[in-house]
Amino acid sequence: MTAPTLPIYLDHAATTPCDPRVVEAMLPYFTEIFGNPGSRNHQFGWKAEEAVDKAREQVAALIGANEKEVIFTSGSTESNNLALRGGAIMYEKAPANSGKPRGHIITNAIEHKAVLDPCKRLQKEGFDVTFLEPGPDGIITAAMVQEAMRADTILVSIMWANNELGVINDIPQIGALCKSRDVLFHTDATQWVGKMPTDVEAAGIDLLSLSSHKMYGPKGVGALFVRRRKPRVRLTPLVDGGGQERGFRSGTLNVSGIVGLGKAAEIAKAEMAAEGARLLVMRRRLEETITAQLDSTQINGHREKRLPHITNISFGFVEGESLMMACKEIACSSGSACTSASLEPSYVLKTLGVGDELAHSSLRLSLGRWTTDAQIDYTIDKIITAVRKLRTLSPLYDMHKEGIDLSKVEWAHH
Ligand SMILES: *Cc1c(COP(=O)(O)O)cnc(C)c1O
Repeated sequence: MTAPTLPIYLDHAATTPCDPRVVEAMLPYFTEIFGNPGSRNHQFGWKAEEAVDKAREQVAALIGANEKEVIFTSGSTESNNLALRGGAIMYEKAPANSGKPRGHIITNAIEHKAVLDPCKRLQKEGFDVTFLEPGPDGIITAAMVQEAMRADTILVSIMWANNELGVINDIPQIGALCKSRDVLFHTDATQWVGKMPTDVEAAGIDLLSLSSHKMYGPKGVGALFVRRRKPRVRLTPLVDGGGQERGFRSGTLNVSGIVGLGKAAEIAKAEMAAEGARLLVMRRRLEETITAQLDSTQINGHREKRLPHITNISFGFVEGESLMMACKEIACSSGSACTSASLEPSYVLKTLGVGDELAHSSLRLSLGRWTTDAQIDYTIDKIITAVRKLRTLSPLYDMHKEGIDLSKVEWAHH
């Protein structure tokens, strides 16, 4: 097998390259078909509107929605903010400054920051928020949500699949629970949509966020599914203006971006089954070879309930930064989050009970549409070599190999 070109991109959970078919579909909308879809009086506007309508159908078809239920946004961050803030404020049980909680929201401690931070802001503004903590498998179940429900619960927001681990929550069961209690149900499905079959009806979802650049479309565009019947969901808009997108999201539409998202959705719908199967075989080989060749490694999160293309592996007895340096030809994410000055261990791994040291020496590898067997071979080889080499420098690893239980060692304090 020929050696792959370096560096190798294994960070598809962070963003994906645009599919060339997507770029091709977008190009006419920068120059020839440049109209404003809001211009109702001439052909330029009509052509643009036609393109947006088609994209709306393509996105709706991907998630089992009606096209009228698709609201275009700038991405999942905005979709999440609109769903959470717009939903909480619209459905509040008591007005602000009344001294009573404005309403209760249930979410998950290992959501993306684009859910956690809007929830924290709502908390400051008088809503009660429960952040459910999953166990070591990283999964939120309907039973956990049920236990947290209160008489004043107005909104549940649980991600479909986690971006750091790939683990999949019990979304249809949580959807059914919310339906039975008449509670609004939002899911951040950014990592799920376009990779796995999605049916907002069957899963009882009222609000769903998705993003183009996580599914081989352009950056800066996404959508929010807003249910129109049973129930007809209302939201307080975040942005007021020209009343586009049924008044939920004013502003001239990003026509070329929306066309790109539509095309990406069409391709994903047609190809996700074969693509998922192919990536699962490669990911299994990656995981199985690495864990067979290296002791003291662990795969984080539930072993089965996971997206086919994401893995998160912790390597004991190596130092995180050294590992990243040794593997710099492999573009992936570490278990450290760069805050302003220091390296913080990932809050996701921390919540799962992974220790700080081990969190720092963890890698999230996420495969994608153009990942090859040769790239996986190279990656396996590189990681195994790097970890073995770093461990030769580790006195702790020597002690571990000699059978010393490191948790029982009494260290001298200086
Ligand atoms: C990437 C990501 C987001 C943010 O999406 P943008 O479109 O980049 O704003 C939100 N949630 C999850 C789970 C993600 O993976």
